[in-house]
This record gives sequence, C-alpha cells and structure tokens, in this order.
Amino acid sequence: MQERLELQLFIEHERQGTYFTLPFTMPPDVESMVLRYSYDRHLESERPVERGTFIAREEVNIIDLGLLSPDGAQVGASGSDKREIFISETDATPGYRSCPLAPGRWQIIVGAYKVAPGGVNVTYEISFTFKRLRLLKGDLHTHTVGSDGIFTAAELGRRARLHGLDFLAITDHNQMVSRQSLPRIEGLTLISGIEWTHYRGHANFLGVDRPYDEPFFANTPEEVRRRFQSARERGALIMINHPFEEGNEFQFDLEELPFDCLNVWNGPMRMQNFQAVALWQSMLEEGKKVPICGGSDYHRDMPFLYPGAPATCVYARSAGVEDILEALRRGHAYIIYAPDGPTLEMRAGKAILGDTVPWPVVKEMEIALEGLQAGDKVQVITARKSETILEAPAPGSYRATYTMEEPGFARLVVVRFFLPGIPELPALLSNPIYFEESR
Ligand SMILES: [Zn+2]
Ligand SMILES: [Zn+2]
Repeated sequence: MQERLELQLFIEHERQGTYFTLPFTMPPDVESMVLRYSYDRHLESERPVERGTFIAREEVNIIDLGLLSPDGAQVGASGSDKREIFISETDATPGYRSCPLAPGRWQIIVGAYKVAPGGVNVTYEISFTFKRLRLLKGDLHTHTVGSDGIFTAAELGRRARLHGLDFLAITDHNQMVSRQSLPRIEGLTLISGIEWTHYRGHANFLGVDRPYDEPFFANTPEEVRRRFQSARERGALIMINHPFEEGNEFQFDLEELPFDCLNVWNGPMRMQNFQAVALWQSMLEEGKKVPICGGSDYHRDMPFLYPGAPATCVYARSAGVEDILEALRRGHAYIIYAPDGPTLEMRAGKAILGDTVPWPVVKEMEIALEGLQAGDKVQVITARKSETILEAPAPGSYRATYTMEEPGFARLVVVRFFLPGIPELPALLSNPIYFEESR
C-alpha cells in the first residue's frame, strides 16, 4: 500500500544563501519512503541564428536537499545532485542513513543556494510504502572472523544472499557488534548479535549494540542473571542455543533466566536437536508458550552445513530488525532444513502460528503447504498425540484442515526421507497455534 504527499514551496530571491526546513508528517507503519523534488533549475531562451536556433541555458536556481528525523538528527544531505532519495530501515540512497521511519514530524532541509530574481517554485513529492505481513527467511546464528568463523560479515552476507536468505544475525562468541558497523547488503537485513558463550551454556542476544556494559564473563548465577536481565531490559531478543550439544549443554536453570526463544534446531538435524525438541514439547505440555527458532551455527562450509541450514522463516510486518525480532518473540515462525525447503501457512480463524485463539469458538486449522516432495508426511502434534494428516503422493502444493477436539496446542512437522538408508527427518518444524478454553 502506498500513499503520496505533495508539498509546494515558493522561495523568494531574498532567501538566497540561507537554510531552512520544511516539515511533513510521517504516518505510522511506514516501511520505506521516496522523496523527489523538482524546480526550474535553468532558464532557457531561444535565439534565432543563421539557418537554425540556438538554445541558451543559464543556471538560475540551485536548491540543496537534506532530511532530519523527528529527534532532529541529520538523516542525510545531498547538495543539489540527487533529485530522488530512498530511505528504509535496511537501505538508503548513499549520503543518507538507513533508519526506522518513526512516525512524527520530519523535516526536509532546504538549502537556497541560488534563487532567481523572481523566486522559484519547488515541488516535493513523498511516497510512503507501508508495512505489510510477509514471509522472510533467515539464519539467526552465524560466526565470522570476529570469533572462530572464516568469513567477514560482508562475505557471509553475500553467501547468505546466494542461499536466498532475507536476514542474517551475526553472533560471534562474546563479541559485540554495532548495527552501524555492519555492512549494507542489498536485500539482506543484517542483525547485530552476540553469542554469549560460557562454560555452562550459550545464548544469543540479538538486535542491540550493547546488551550489557560489563565484560561477558560471569562466575556466579547472580552475575549470569544480570547479563540476561540487562539484555532483556535493553530490548535484545534472547535465544537459548543448542541446549543439548555435547560439551556445550545449557546447564543454567531456564526458569531463572529471561529468554524469548528456544533454539531447538542448531545446524543439521541430529540427536541434540531431537533432545531440544523433546524438551520444548514437555514445556508446551506444561502449558508454557515457548517460541522456537533455528540457526546454522555456521563457521565454514561443511557437509549439510551452510548459511540457512536450517532457516528460520518469520511472518514479519517489514524487513526491519525490530519487526523480524517481534515476529520471533510472538512465535510467528517456523523452521525449515534449508532455504529452499517447504513453505507453510497455518491459520485458525485470523490467527497465525504463535497466536492464541479461544476454543471451541475457533477449533479449525487451515494448513497450506508448498514445495512438498513425494513421500513427505505432514504431522500435527498436540499434547496428546502425533497424527499424520497427509502423505504427499507427488511433489507439489497441498491443503488440509485439522479440527482441535480439545483445547491445547497444535504444531506441525513435515518429515522426509532425505537419503537412502537414513531414517526420515524433519524438513519443517512449526511453532504451535494455542487453543485456550473460553467460557
Ligand atoms: Zn554455541
Ligand atoms: Zn555458535
């Protein structure tokens, strides 16, 4: 959805050599904006010459451009060469800073460098593109040369694009990285992160430059709690990593620490991930609402290990960091073994994955899957049972419905035979929809 705004400005000759600003209101929920401006820069006059016409062109007006955000900070300035600029949270015309488009009073900087004796009319045209729910694929756990990976963030970002990812978190061991220091890669949202790495467990803190001020190390449960508490207060998404990885098990009490997501799928699907899924299932059965996510824990290419293996798919309102993290917090996500794995849309009424609906007012789930292969089994798992609702006879897209006979949660798994001789493994694992008894 788009909206356009046009502003007309007349600048008198007397204002030549001064700067001023032209305010406009940024509506809520804008994902990106384009600002164009135009004015008569040249005065052209025709003069007849022998056997022809001569067009004399004289520069009479030069108007410079710039932009201020509601807090008064300079978003950018571009002299008079750029007639059109683009800004979003993840990308911007060079000379301008990518930033969230906060609603409120923004200001165009008008630099009246040169103004004709009769003054000049300037037209500013602003197009706003609004946020809308879309599916984005990404990897929430990767390492660069900042710790024990072999690629820089820019190299890793380019590889992520080649694998079809839309977002990528950089999570080096105990290394903070700021959002502004991350490279800009077209089509990719880079998320600043840190893998807080301790002898007794690892956790990712995503989306903030400095989750805590102290050093990473902590020797007492109280110090550990303070790191997590500080990360939470500063708005980081907290993800518990590979709780059962041999040698790196998460040994702290999950009841004692704040966290947003349990990473149940770390690198290729194997025993430690099955154990994490079993832990998660037991938490769901206790009535907890715990969102899951995945990450490759990529350091370098290895068999079955590359950026996006597995990929976490989120239904986010924009490609901005905050909207991606918010989708993860709300469980609006599922995990697939690779970026080209199957895609899922699962609804109950208007609710999507991670949402809660009143049962039995809402008890039907609609399931749409694309990219299934022959033999794929689609299973719905609740607290009580695991049911195969579909077995794909041929590759393609499938639809199904499922009725909740009692309140609780329902999550979906697609299992596939990947290689001869290897048992079937999950190709997709979804967050649940929660059905809460209404009276
Ligand atoms: Zn780790
Ligand atoms: Zn790691």
